Amino acid sequence: DHLSPEREKKLVFLTARVHPGESPASFVCQGVIDFLVSQHPVAQILRDHVIFKIVPMLNPDGVYLGNYRCSLMGFDLNRHWQDPSPWAHPTLHAVKQLIVQMNQDPRVSLEFYIDVHAHSTMLNGFMYGNVFEDEERVQRQAVFPRLLCQNAPDFSFSNTSFNRDVVKAGTGRRFLGGLLDDTSYCYTLEVSFYSYMTAGSNAPVPYTEETYMKLGRNVARTFLDYYKLNNLIKDNRTTHIER
Ligand SMILES: [Zn+2]
Repeated sequence: DHLSPEREKKLVFLTARVHPGESPASFVCQGVIDFLVSQHPVAQILRDHVIFKIVPMLNPDGVYLGNYRCSLMGFDLNRHWQDPSPWAHPTLHAVKQLIVQMNQDPRVSLEFYIDVHAHSTMLNGFMYGNVFEDEERVQRQAVFPRLLCQNAPDFSFSNTSFNRDVVKAGTGRRFLGGLLDDTSYCYTLEVSFYSYMTAGSNAPVPYTEETYMKLGRNVARTFLDYYKLNNLIKDNRTTHIER
């Protein structure tokens, strides 16, 4: 309603491919983008209610060079969120500035930061989250992965874990988890380099470009459940998305 006072809009910030060798992360991110810009009724509702800021490739130089983990200058960018240099880590510096700016903007409420990676030894999709003293916050942080688990057959809540390892202190998830306020959630979304198990399967199913993109689609539509926007769908039959 354009006559009502302007309410702050919810904002979801998504990044991918900080590690250039993790190409599955790009397919997941592509799935998110393709769905959000589609004519699907769920996508239309999400666009009306949530702002999505997406940086599909945090480390383009590393991708261009064919590096597995590092940037052009040999940095693992996902260990430099605390103090990125505009000269040595330009993409990270710019994205961090944008996130800080969004976080201070009174018109928006930055509620999610999700950084997409691929995992070389684990199966399925899963998440890493942060550890908090406040038990209620711990529970609230588990809501999104639980909902995603219901929507994505290849997403595993049991593989999802919450940690505070010192070695991960410079990651986007850990650093932004400390920077943003206690109503924001920061996750690393990991997807296996090779396969997933579903509830009914007795052997791992190899991922394809298409199933990586489906995971991305399911990540996007989980925000409909999270923000309880389901009642805005006019025709229930259209809410079904092929898994
Ligand atoms: Zn990674």
